[in-house]
Amino acid sequence: MLVSDKMVVGIHYTLTDTDGNVLDGSNQSEPLVYLHGAGNIVVGLEKALMGKSVGDQVTVRVEPEEGYGTIDGKLIKTVDRSVFRGVEDIQVGMSFQAQTADGSVEPIKITAVEGDQITIDSNHPLAGIVLNFEVEVISIREATSIEIDHRHAH
Ligand code: ZN
Repeated sequence: MLVSDKMVVGIHYTLTDTDGNVLDGSNQSEPLVYLHGAGNIVVGLEKALMGKSVGDQVTVRVEPEEGYGTIDGKLIKTVDRSVFRGVEDIQVGMSFQAQTADGSVEPIKITAVEGDQITIDSNHPLAGIVLNFEVEVISIREATSIEIDHRHAH
């Protein structure tokens, strides 16, 4: 059986940046299980796994365009400190969950503090980063019709 669309695939993976820092990975006792072809994982990794079989090891470098996207300058803004009412000590590197106008929640990160001017960045934390995946395919099975409907593995 080969990895293709509508297959539920289990992988062990390690994600590192170009300096070799580990950014993410599967838990050693439990693989990441996803539905192939449904955008559950980044496009570049999905492409690299297409056609692989159980036991295959894949090393792939994914550019931001096929990873978490490039950095969007429109998502970097300067706001007044008063926006953070109730936060005692605002520092570079802090992260918040912000409620947007349409009610969804987005992560924002403080990237600069100059007096009352706070620069916030709501790009994905891994936007603009080249992703290096080391992957081993652990399992492959056909998805159920419910999984295909839901666009994720159960
Ligand atoms: Zn579901």
